[in-house]
Amino acid sequence: MRIAIVGSGVIGLSVALYLSLEGFKVMLITRNPQEGASWFAGGMLAPFSEGLEGELFEFSYESLKMYSDYVKLVEEVSRSKIDFWKNGILRVVLKGEEGLIKKAEQYRERGFSVEILERMDYHSEEVVSVIRYAEEGWVDTEHLMDALLLAMENSGVKIEIDEINKIELKDERVESLKGIKGNYRADYYVFCTGAWTKELFDVPVYPIKGQAIKIKAKPVDVVNYSTISYIIPRSRYTYVGATSEDVSFLGGNTVGGLNFLCGNAIRVVPSIAKAEVMSTIYGFRPATPDEKPIFLLGENYCLFSGHYRNGILHAPITASIAKSLIKDGVKSIYFEYFSQERF
Ligand SMILES: Cc1cc2nc3c(=O)[nH]c(=O)nc-3n(C[C@H](O)[C@H](O)[C@H](O)COP(=O)(O)OP(=O)(O)OC[C@H]3O[C@@H](n4cnc5c(N)ncnc54)[C@H](O)[C@@H]3O)c2cc1C
Repeated sequence: MRIAIVGSGVIGLSVALYLSLEGFKVMLITRNPQEGASWFAGGMLAPFSEGLEGELFEFSYESLKMYSDYVKLVEEVSRSKIDFWKNGILRVVLKGEEGLIKKAEQYRERGFSVEILERMDYHSEEVVSVIRYAEEGWVDTEHLMDALLLAMENSGVKIEIDEINKIELKDERVESLKGIKGNYRADYYVFCTGAWTKELFDVPVYPIKGQAIKIKAKPVDVVNYSTISYIIPRSRYTYVGATSEDVSFLGGNTVGGLNFLCGNAIRVVPSIAKAEVMSTIYGFRPATPDEKPIFLLGENYCLFSGHYRNGILHAPITASIAKSLIKDGVKSIYFEYFSQERF
């Protein structure tokens, strides 16, 4: 069976990998393998720090539990190493944010691993305490994306660089995809088009821009997730994120954005003021009105989009949902939870 996947972010690449390993003939069509939000994400795997609830929490937590096996699989197929840390994240509590402790206690009552600690030496006096969510972790997203692209090569996925601008439908079935360079036909189609999904489907997915900076210093050795800033250590530098801006697809790093990032990071960890800036980056999160994904299921196609702030975390579960659907005909309950009927 021939599968065509549109989009080469973490979702499209992970779906392509899982399906190609099942023996499907997979073609991945993407406008630009470097433009996806996935390259610019912090890579935090943080359903607790994000304070998620309900089915979005269940979905995210299930994916967190799959992450070690997922990274191992991508490493094996790509024959490359991905930096991945799984020893917990610190949720920083600032003055006036005592509600976060209450939330942490609720997670603890449900049996999750939660520790409430005093602030660290490197914190400012604005930090009241920290919550350690031991089950969380983070991944170097550039390593992950590089490895996924290598895995495409090693598992026989054919990549076409093209922009799909029309889906030809007949009797509810996709007949073909029209691109700028050519037309594409397959037996089944999977759309993973991130923040650009609305160009192809009438669904409420829109871009929320996030700016971030990389600094040369290593002021912390674990992710410090605060309401105003994320400080994420990687092996060669520290990632400081992120803004959240509703500015459509307006690109670039702005003075206001960098001011926000630097000022807030210094408020949490003052020594960051002395760090050398290495580079600045930005990307577009695929947002929806209620911040939950949108999954669509058609006769011979499906769509996985709207992963918003947690798409890196959601990659393994989304890919396994696609695999169960296409290989075994099993329709995940998440097609109902994340259906666009809810709007
Ligand atoms: C600053 C920032 C920080 C973030 N931090 C985290 C984090 O810590 N943890 C986390 O889990 N998530 C994080 N995210 C969110 C995460 O990056 C996204 O949810 C995730 O990357 C979405 O993946 P995707 O594959 O759906 O989309 P994308 O990675 O955006 O990929 C979409 C792909 O589709 C292609 N495409 C679109 N339309 C077409 C078309 N018509 N034809 C052909 N190709 C097309 C694009 O070229 C692109 O390759 C962050 C995002 C940002 C911006």
